[in-house]
Order: sequence, then structure tokens, then C-alpha cells
Amino acid sequence: MNYENVVTSQRVLMEGIQNMLFVIKVDSNFTYEFLNRAAMEGTGLNQDVLGKPIDEVYPDAPATFLYEQYRKAVSSRKVTTYEDSYMSPKGFLSFSETTLTPLFDNKENCTHIVAVVKDITNEKWAESEIKKSKDILLENKQKYQSLYDYNLDAIITIDLNGNITATNLAAESISQFSSAEVTGTSFKSYVIPEHIELVNERFQLAAGGTSQQLRMAITNKSGNKMNIIAKFTPIITNNKVTGIYGIYKDITEQENTLRQLKESEELFRIIAENASDLITLLDKRGQIIYVSPSYKDILGFDNEEYENKHFLHNVYKDDQEMINDGISTAVKDRKPCKLKFRQLNNAGDWIWSELTGTPVYDELNNFNHMVVLTRDITFQKEYEARLRYVAMHDALTGLPNRRFFNEQITKAVDSFNDKKDGLAVLMIDIDYFKTINDTFGHDIGDLVIEEFGKRISGCIRDDDMAARLGGDEFVILLHGVGAKVNATSIAEKVFTCMRDVWNFGGTALEVTTSIGIAVAPLEGTTELQLLKNADLALYEAKESGRNKYKIKG
Ligand code: GH3
Ligand code: MG
Repeated sequence: MNYENVVTSQRVLMEGIQNMLFVIKVDSNFTYEFLNRAAMEGTGLNQDVLGKPIDEVYPDAPATFLYEQYRKAVSSRKVTTYEDSYMSPKGFLSFSETTLTPLFDNKENCTHIVAVVKDITNEKWAESEIKKSKDILLENKQKYQSLYDYNLDAIITIDLNGNITATNLAAESISQFSSAEVTGTSFKSYVIPEHIELVNERFQLAAGGTSQQLRMAITNKSGNKMNIIAKFTPIITNNKVTGIYGIYKDITEQENTLRQLKESEELFRIIAENASDLITLLDKRGQIIYVSPSYKDILGFDNEEYENKHFLHNVYKDDQEMINDGISTAVKDRKPCKLKFRQLNNAGDWIWSELTGTPVYDELNNFNHMVVLTRDITFQKEYEARLRYVAMHDALTGLPNRRFFNEQITKAVDSFNDKKDGLAVLMIDIDYFKTINDTFGHDIGDLVIEEFGKRISGCIRDDDMAARLGGDEFVILLHGVGAKVNATSIAEKVFTCMRDVWNFGGTALEVTTSIGIAVAPLEGTTELQLLKNADLALYEAKESGRNKYKIKG
């Protein structure tokens, strides 16, 4: 194209076009030769710049930039384009796209460059808006994607034909199938046959635009049945349902726990309802929340007598503190406790009972309630008492035996040393008992011993004691003021009662006895000393002819 022609024939056109247009003369500096009106308005330049090189028109940076662009156009000899931004005279950031067209003379020398500048501000803004929207969209998509991928509930995307199009990680872990394995398959193929009909019905409703929630079971890759709460949520785009999200929550474990809980409750109920022990549940404060029916059988009260009352309400007063302490310690030490106590029955008797209290803690390890098993130990208590009685009494006479007497004399000596209120021991031994045995037989000998025990017991007050030490040897323990005076009078009484007739089924005999009396001295008496003195006195009584008493101390 020839520049002269352009100048002459198209000048009007150049002036008139909307785009900014510059004609630059190619010399060492690139000089402005023409600017149209649009260029002047757009840049704020005027006719004054004509004939001036660009480095005089612009500051350094833009001048250098333009120089570069023009040089490129000249050296490439082709039409080049570049984008630029600038502040418009009105102060707006504007964007432009400039096309540089090099013009050549007849000798193919580049003489001019025509720069047509197109204002692309609007396009640029639009582009940047689109980019911004795209970025937001991408961010939203990523957010949504991670909500989908990492959701703890299994999510499967299903098309309207019921085929799976995507699954998330939780779905893979619940089903054990990889996403690739299930994609393209029907989601119904994993539902157990019994639930297919229900699932079909609900899926159709979801496809119609209404979310559904249902319980169903699926089979996983290992063939295990999993209980699921499923939600079918329609995916609505542009007002149309395009698919369904299936959101699955695995409730197998919860249901198992619930079933186990029910089973253990049932087990508890069966045991409690049928046990012969008393079973009581106490809350944190010791209030009764349950009593087993056995309460009625054993104690005679109905359940209502106990429920919502404190465990101690029917417990013997003297045992209450011990029970409270025992239970508190069990809760603190986290160990069961075993306690013996008395509780009231419907007949108004105190029943000896033994409880085992086991504290139960909740999942946070806080004390929650107490399971108390109680059993009637009246028999055991009676048996124990009987054993104790047997251990402490003589079988033939029923009198306290040597063990019992030893216990009592120790107590009596302690009390005497404390109070100085008198203490005496009468050691009594039947005279010539061997001869009775030899003459009348052992059985009669036994009857004599039995009768002898009765007679000497009849000579003493209730709070004194007669005991059989063994063989034909007995003892009387006297305490209280005047024990010494009493001692001799009791010995006399014994002699008197010996004189009564001894007759056993026609066998009549005579029985005498010798008595050694020891009276406690004022200071520091020991049982050993008392017994030694009594033995010594008895020995003397025997030695001096029997049927006598001697006294020491
Ligand atoms: P003494 O006057 O010195 O006391 O002479 P004794 O014959 O009574 O002699 P001693 O007290 O030493 O003998 C007690 C006898 O009592 C010895 C034993 O054979 C007899 N004996 C011990 N226990 C029983 C018993 O439970 N029943 C019977 N029938 N005899 C017993
Ligand atoms: Mg004797």
C-alpha cells in the first residue's frame, strides 16, 4: 500500500472512524505525522505533537514501550497487534488493542506505520467479569466436590434410570466396592430383595422432586447386610430433576448396640424377675429405682413400698451409717461391697441380710447407679449363733464351758481392776466321782454331772456365772460389791443343795463336793493368780477331808 494514496484518498475516512488512528513516520525516532479526532479525544494529545518524535510526546516508560512495538512492526514487516492499558483523559482505566500496519515505498522501505487503536475496555471488563465468575464457579465446584467426596455419609449420584454415575469415598468404604466398580450399575442391585419394592416407590417420588427418607438394607461386597438410613434427594438443575443423590448412613452398629442393649435389659429382667435374691437398683442418691418381685416373697412388701424411697428407709437404725459408708467407699474405690445388716419385713421383724453392692459407671466414667443383690441370712446368722453357742457351752450340762469362762474371767478381772467392786472365783470338784462312775456306771455319772450343774446354777444370781471346766470340775464367778461375803454364803448354799436327794430312776446316791474360793485382792489381780489361788484352796479342801470349802486371798 502506498502512503501518498492513503493520505489523499482516505483522509476523510481516517478522520471519521471511531477508532483512534495514528500515522507515524518511520525515522530514527518515530515521529507523529497524523492523529484523527478520535485519537486526540482518546489520548488528550493535539495537533502540536505532529512532527514530534514519540520520546518528546510521552514520558520515558510509555515512549520506550511504543518504540519497542513500532520497531517490531518495522522489522517483522507484518501487521502486528498489542494490547495496552492506559488512563483515559476522564480518569478511567481503559484497555486498548492496537494494530500496527507498516507501509512501504516503492523500494520496499518501511516509511510509515499506521496505528489503529481499538478501545477494548468494555470487552476487557466483560472478560474479567467472566473470569471472576468462572473462578467463583470453580471455587464453588471445588467446595461442593469436597463436600461430596469427603462427606462422612455415603453419597451416590444416580441418574433417573437408577444407574449410579458417581460415588464418594464413604460410599466406597461402606460398600467395599470401588467407585469404578459400581458406576454404571443399578443402585437397586445392592438393595436386599425385601426392600426393592419400597426403594422403587421412594425413588420414583424423589424423581418427582420430593426428598425421601427411608430405612433399608444393602449387601456389601463381602456379602454382609448393612442397615442404612437412606435419603433420596432430587438433583434439580434449571427446574428439572436430572438425577438423584442417594445419601446413605450406616446404622448397623447403632442397631446392633441397641439390640444388645435390649437383649441385656431382657436378660436383666429375666434374672431379676426370677431370682430368689432381692435385686435392687439405686440411683446416684441411693433412691430405689427398681426392686425385684422377690421382695414380696422374702420381706412381704409390695414393690410400691420401696420405689422412689431411699435404700435405708427399711434398714435397722444402727446399721444405717455402716451401709452408707460401705456404699460410698464402693463407689469411690470402684469395687463391689459386701455388707451385713438388718431390714424390716412386713411382719415387723428385723431380717438379717447380706448385700453385695456393685457400682455401675456411665461411658464418661461417672457413677451412674448401683446394683444391689441382697439375701436373707437369718439362717446363716442363726447357724453362726448356734456354732458360737456350741463352741462356748458344755454339751452335757448346757453350762458355759472353759473357753466361755476364760473369756468372762478376763473381762471380770479388767472390770474389777477398773472399779474395785469385788471379784471371787469358786473352784468346785465333786468328791470321789470316780467311785460314782465305778459304782453306778458312766451313764449315772453323766446324770450326776448334769444334775450337779443345775444345782450349782440355782445357787447364783443371774449376772454371776457357773461353768463346767471339764470332768467333774465346775466353777462359779462372782462379781460386784461383797463378792467375798457372797462367796462363802454361796459355798454354803452349794453344800445345802448337795444334801437334797439324788435319785436317778430308783438309783439313790449321795454327792458331796469340795470348794476352793479365791477372792481378788485389792490391787493388780490377774486371772492366773485368782485361778491358782482357787485351785490351791480346792486342793486344801480335798486334803482336809472333802465336803468343805477353803478360802484364799
Ligand atoms: P476327788 O475327790 O479327788 O475329786 O476324786 P475323784 O474320784 O472325783 O477324782 P477326779 O475328780 O480326779 O476324777 C474325775 C473323774 O471324772 C475322772 C473321769 O473318769 C470322770 N469323768 C470325767 N468326765 C466325765 C464325764 O463326762 N462323765 C462321767 N461319767 N465321768 C467323767
Ligand atoms: Mg472329783
